[in-house]
Amino acid sequence: MIIASSVTKKFGRFKALDNVSTTCNKGSCIALIGPNGSGKTTLIKSILGMVVPDSGFISFNGKNIRKEWTYREQIGYMPQIGRYPENMTISQVLSMMKDIRNKQLGLDEDLVKAFGLPALLNKRMRTLSGGTRQKVSAALAFLFDPLVLILDEPTAGLDPVAAEILQEKIIAEKEKGKLVLITSHVLSELDEMVTGVMYMQEGKLLFHKSIQALREDTGEEKLARAIARIMVK
Ligand code: ADP
Ligand code: MG
Repeated sequence: MIIASSVTKKFGRFKALDNVSTTCNKGSCIALIGPNGSGKTTLIKSILGMVVPDSGFISFNGKNIRKEWTYREQIGYMPQIGRYPENMTISQVLSMMKDIRNKQLGLDEDLVKAFGLPALLNKRMRTLSGGTRQKVSAALAFLFDPLVLILDEPTAGLDPVAAEILQEKIIAEKEKGKLVLITSHVLSELDEMVTGVMYMQEGKLLFHKSIQALREDTGEEKLARAIARIMVK
């Protein structure tokens, strides 16, 4: 569904992405992990077309995304830091997005409800706590029932109950055959969700393995321990 082929992105002389190649198929939930500054967000932004690679290409459903934008209708994106018009209320942000995406029907409002957003609709974005802002971002990512979900540190700042709600939603969407790409520093929360792991370091994709292969290779059940083993080697 998404193919990256020898993708390199430089900021000045610094290589944020160094010859990254991989394939992400539908029905999978792939964890994108690696230290701070390893290129995870840059890779995500390249897939979204917000960062343009210097070389290599990315295709979405068999089509090169370069100079394309309609494929983005099929992606729900939750940014690491959501930025919104701060004077708008939650309700206004939701309607604005529905207008922009030109979609009023077939909406998936599960998270809007599960996060209790209907009770907060008249609150202005600038008054929201970090966690509530994250809830709005998550609800927006799933709202248009997209085929692909790209979630950049989605649970950062969420309370445990909200994090659990989001996890269950991610699992449910994956089971429906969607593709979920997720970054997180909390490896323990990924255990139940992910089918595969991409590990990045200094702009390079060190490996992309299925969770079974990772468990077999390392003899560890838990993702955190499996990764620790690989990094020691
Ligand atoms: P991660 O998400 O893995 O923490 P990023 O993809 O955000 O890492 O960043 C990778 C590296 O690229 C970092 O060193 C970051 O400072 C650098 N970088 C990212 N975006 C830009 C930019 N727009 N201009 C210059 N450097 C950038
Ligand atoms: Mg990042």
